[in-house]
Amino acid sequence: MENLQLENSRDISLRRAEVLKSKIEDYLSIKDSIPKGLSQAREMKKLEKKKKILTMLSGTEEDWRQWQWQLKNRISDVEALSSIISLTEQEIEAIKKVQKKFRWSISPYYLSLIDDDDPYCPIKLMSIPTKLEIAQKLGKIDPMAEEYTNPAGSITRRYPDRLIINVTNECAMYCRHCQRRRNIGTLDQHTSRHALKDSIDYIKSNPEIRDVLITGGDPFTLSDSAIEWLLKELHAIPTVDYIRIGTRTPVTMPQRISDHLLSILKKYAPIYINTHFNHPAEITTESLEACNRLANAGIPLGNQAVLLNGVNNNKFVMRLLNQELLKCRVKPYYIFHAKKVIGTTHFNTSVDEGIEIMEYLRGYTSGMAIPTYIINAPDGKGKTPIMPQYMISRGKDYVKIRTWEGEVIDYPNTPTRSIDSLLNGNKSPSQ
Ligand SMILES: *Cc1c(COP(=O)(O)O)cnc(C)c1O
Repeated sequence: MENLQLENSRDISLRRAEVLKSKIEDYLSIKDSIPKGLSQAREMKKLEKKKKILTMLSGTEEDWRQWQWQLKNRISDVEALSSIISLTEQEIEAIKKVQKKFRWSISPYYLSLIDDDDPYCPIKLMSIPTKLEIAQKLGKIDPMAEEYTNPAGSITRRYPDRLIINVTNECAMYCRHCQRRRNIGTLDQHTSRHALKDSIDYIKSNPEIRDVLITGGDPFTLSDSAIEWLLKELHAIPTVDYIRIGTRTPVTMPQRISDHLLSILKKYAPIYINTHFNHPAEITTESLEACNRLANAGIPLGNQAVLLNGVNNNKFVMRLLNQELLKCRVKPYYIFHAKKVIGTTHFNTSVDEGIEIMEYLRGYTSGMAIPTYIINAPDGKGKTPIMPQYMISRGKDYVKIRTWEGEVIDYPNTPTRSIDSLLNGNKSPSQ
């Protein structure tokens, strides 16, 4: 007892710090083996692939920097693909079969990120079809029932104060895990001006809508002038507080974040952008620069990842991803549980796995790096947050809570007393 009292508080703190340090040794020993786009090895391979692709397409360095060139030259031909990345005969056959049913197409830039030496390259898994897409009979085509929440134009409305406008089905790369697969079809199609005008009119005549989210497809496949027209219209509606844009182009076609686009976005502030990184291999010098340019233009950035079997359903990968995103000034916003969409069910994970990852993140990394894990309830019933249980039980005037380290504590839960009753000595609890 005496000893304990004499023990220096600094010594106690140092011992505690040693315990804390030991808790992340597993992560520290494994983190360098996770593929990172910014690693020297990956950057070198990317430059080699880029050279090969430019030669194949007879393009120049200047072409490569132009997003219009990137979009126009998306690769969607198996022969071309197999001249750039190594594919087995079986893989080639599978792609040929899948493409009869589901479209694939990949920007030259995103293709350059595939690492031939990694048999489970996350970039490849997310962009190149496999036989798994046609091996499945299960899964729905529209599990979100977006068709039944479309009150006007190209709007999806599921919430009291906000809605989304779908402006295109086009993307720089068609994610193999796409949850809106039914919209991709076989042709790129921007929403008609007529349908956009109907959407805008709906927002004007429903003033409770204060948050408008522009989505697709990828809205940044639209021309600068089309984007500017839409932003200007929405910005002019006094009841709209701010505009949100969901785009994967910082990841799949970072060239899109051009000076001209930035000058437009700046005019219609406040604009928030949510992007879609799923793996640290997607964070490259180019995607980092795209994020920096958006952030420097005053646009707060968030990330909406999808929990994907074989890509990021690993607590260390998810941790590294979210930490690396913060270095790009991107705040992890959501991790979506992958829905059972036909052609994508091989990416599905259990909900338990998602909860385990969330459990791991809390405490072991910054709160800033922790997104909300979301299940999209069936039939368009909305985003539902899923969390590990931190409140184990409750008594009459306490709750039993569990800390990130698993310590169980009773915590008082006494009724709130109103300021009025506290000031005036009124004993009755507030209500
Ligand atoms: C996801 C979504 C939103 C935005 O949801 P937040 O939780 O506010 O980001 C709005 N409308 C629809 C239809 C959506 O699917």
